[in-house]
Amino acid sequence: MAHAEDQQTVGTLLRGAQVCGPSGVPEVGDVLLVGTAIAAVARDLGGVPGALPVAEVDAAGHLLVPSFVDQHSHPTGGGGGGGPETLSFPIPFERYAAAGIGTVVGCSGNDSVVRRPEALLARVKGLRRLGLNAHLYTGEIGYPPETITGSIRRDLALVDEVRGVKAAIGGRGSIVRRSQLADLAGEAARGSRSAGRAPVLHLHVEPDVAGIRLVARAIAHGDVAPETVTVTHVNWNDAVLDEAIGLAERGVNVDVTACIRPEFFPGTIDPLVALRALLDQVDAARVTISSDAGGNHPDGHGGPDGHGALVMHQPDLLADIFAAGLRTGLLAVPELVRVFAANPAARLGLTDVGAVRVGARADVLLVEADSGRIASAYLAGRRVVAAGQPVVRDQAQNLPAEGSR
Ligand SMILES: [Zn+2]
Repeated sequence: MAHAEDQQTVGTLLRGAQVCGPSGVPEVGDVLLVGTAIAAVARDLGGVPGALPVAEVDAAGHLLVPSFVDQHSHPTGGGGGGGPETLSFPIPFERYAAAGIGTVVGCSGNDSVVRRPEALLARVKGLRRLGLNAHLYTGEIGYPPETITGSIRRDLALVDEVRGVKAAIGGRGSIVRRSQLADLAGEAARGSRSAGRAPVLHLHVEPDVAGIRLVARAIAHGDVAPETVTVTHVNWNDAVLDEAIGLAERGVNVDVTACIRPEFFPGTIDPLVALRALLDQVDAARVTISSDAGGNHPDGHGGPDGHGALVMHQPDLLADIFAAGLRTGLLAVPELVRVFAANPAARLGLTDVGAVRVGARADVLLVEADSGRIASAYLAGRRVVAAGQPVVRDQAQNLPAEGSR
């Protein structure tokens, strides 16, 4: 029984899409979302839903892929490293939704002193209420880190939304010695054990290759278990990317950053080019991409300090790279599904997202097969994007419309 999407329904039947299941290879089929989960995936669900009141959607011409899993983002807004005027704004729910992101892990950055980790936790809880599968890392840029409960170990053990530990390696005021990294890894291991989870150590590396080399030395000396480590921002330059390839060969997860791109930061490696290089040289299961949304960079024009106005990085950057990868064919569809969804989900130990399969959270996207544009997004079974536009919104800002002032 077909129902219009605005009638009372218990689910949605997406018909005739090119469904990218766990293999990532597109095959024409139907996907049934019931409640918050994927209830059925089949070549032709025909009359299977029977009397179930479900909304039917013609998904022909679209790839049906799992929502993206963004393991590095700043939902409270990042920045702040160049003075209070460089603090970014919080990212509204609909920016994540429209960018195809279903799962996000929030980070503290240079803003950690003035925006306590409790603020990040509260924002994560709020995004969850709106339907996003949101988590956070304890830890931050500085070392020793600000925490919620007073220690990394307690944060991991006691706060369910805390999925792992973030730290920065090599910058001033960050981790600069092997012993510090070993201490942090020990705290992460003990706290994760108390939480009953695998440890996740998410390590920000600087453009200076000394930082990522410190990670390599710590792993070589057995201070840190490689499979617990993700190094992020590996596309700063060729030297950092080469070190990342070496680390991936030892079992470390390597994460490309969508907002590190030559247009924003001269001399950096285009994210798609970095992904292609990694996929050609290391185990594909080790390779991921994240947005780092919430950070910013000066555009070089007309800022108050003469260095340029700030441009804030939005989650859309991730969707742009997915679309470019699809259009150019630089990454095959199964590779895109892996690096944007399946691999980061596995890295985070999240078993209910990252794949289109029965029982998974109903976080799926319909992507126009030719343009790569995200046409529709569903989060926990609820449609949050339709015809490319968000239909569920965060707080509207009470500002007069442009031109009406
Ligand atoms: Zn960041």
